[in-house]
Amino acid sequence: MDLGLKGKKALVTASSKGIGRAIAEEFAAEGCDVGICSRNKEDLLETVNDIKSKYNYDAFWCVCDLNKLKDIENTFNHFIKEFGQIDILVNNCGGPPPGSFSELDEDKWQSAFEQVLLSAVRLSRLAVSDMMKREWGRIINITSISVKQPLSNLMLSNSLRSGLIGFAKSLSNEVGKYNITVNNIAPGFTLTNRLYELAVTRAKQSNVSHEDILTEMAKEIPMNRLGSPEEIAAAVTFLASVKAGYITGVTLQVDGGLIKGLL
Ligand code: NAD
Repeated sequence: MDLGLKGKKALVTASSKGIGRAIAEEFAAEGCDVGICSRNKEDLLETVNDIKSKYNYDAFWCVCDLNKLKDIENTFNHFIKEFGQIDILVNNCGGPPPGSFSELDEDKWQSAFEQVLLSAVRLSRLAVSDMMKREWGRIINITSISVKQPLSNLMLSNSLRSGLIGFAKSLSNEVGKYNITVNNIAPGFTLTNRLYELAVTRAKQSNVSHEDILTEMAKEIPMNRLGSPEEIAAAVTFLASVKAGYITGVTLQVDGGLIKGLL
């Protein structure tokens, strides 16, 4: 299937590692012009070098802390300067810290709000105004299965990602007439640094090894294994494609069947 992505200009945030990086690589493989960003220059350069060696493509990169409006504006403006326009925006972010209600103070809530919800709102605001000019665009938010079923000890993620789903659905209603789609991907347990760290945290709490925690996680999944970042990236790439032009306002779980609900 020709996804029609060749030459599309795609910005993927929080993309030096994990799911974001896999998405950036998949876009590069499809012939997109790709921009990546995260807080750490060395990590970004490593990713840029890897993409160069695999796809012979020099990705655009920019240091950006998604919690800071100035960094977001700077990244977006440099991306537009480089490519002239934005066609695809993937709002990914680092996961907020784990914790239960009693452990989370005002600062942690504020920071998670900026990271998970406000960064996507800010980037979407910048991107939509450019996409509307050409009446074409794709916005895809990376959330979590926690929007369908809250996960234990992830109070911040459980609370704020649902806000992002509400934002995305509302935005999809407003921008559909400009041929801009807005969708969400809800990953299940996907083997990245983030999952590894969550397993280490849970292991300490329950006095077992993190390997055992990861094995137990996999047993909960009908596919009987953890997901890979590349499997999340494949779903994102389809939603970003020309072929997915009539899919908007949806949340697609990519979780090996972990969520047991019907819808
Ligand atoms: P990861 O920790 O492997 O990678 C996170 C990326 O975000 C890194 O590139 C990091 O540098 C960047 N980042 C972190 N904070 C940032 C900030 N303030 N500004 C800019 N960049 C920042 O994580 P991942 O597993 O790839 O997860 C990506 C997202 O998907 C997270 O929000 C995570 O909670 C969510 N998610 C992951 C899983 C999973 O099992 N891995 C499941 C559901 C949801």
